[in-house]
Amino acid sequence: MAVRSIVISGDPVLHSPALPVVDFDDDLRELVQDMYETMDTAPGVGLAATQVGVPLRLFTYNFLDDDDHLWRGVAINPELWITPVPAGEADEDEDVEGCLSYPGERFPLLRSPSAILRAVDLEQKPFEIHAEDWLARIFQHEYDHLDGTLYVDRLEHFYAKIATKITRKRGWGVPGLGWMPGVDNLED
Ligand code: ZN
Repeated sequence: MAVRSIVISGDPVLHSPALPVVDFDDDLRELVQDMYETMDTAPGVGLAATQVGVPLRLFTYNFLDDDDHLWRGVAINPELWITPVPAGEADEDEDVEGCLSYPGERFPLLRSPSAILRAVDLEQKPFEIHAEDWLARIFQHEYDHLDGTLYVDRLEHFYAKIATKITRKRGWGVPGLGWMPGVDNLED
């Protein structure tokens, strides 16, 4: 197992749709183990394969909900159904989201409050999770990654302008940038 470098916004792998997983082999097993280790080291509540530079449709997640239930697993070739995103503006406290590929920054974004995730695990066994609130948000965020969408691509105009400035200031938005969890400190 190894921590892998996390790709930063600007590399094409983050901005292109990923491909379905076909081979459930040792390479996939190793990738998933590395993704867990990378996610836990970062730390993050979710990590898509595209974020470690692999253009395949899978993500890991790790989230402790208010009832102390730990949601931890890998979703391979997922499908996601969501209820409509509420109208209005994102709340600066309640709706704040972040991304390991846009590290050290957080922005408010409205998400659907509930989602149904269907996917298979490493044994190709199908499973389904009815998610609410933060877990639903995590699934929407990670699922977006597999379609080449970052949460900063979805921001309301006001925040999108700030993100554009940050991208420029930090020299992001170009291919080949990454950071190593446990080594690089990208907090402000
Ligand atoms: Zn992300």
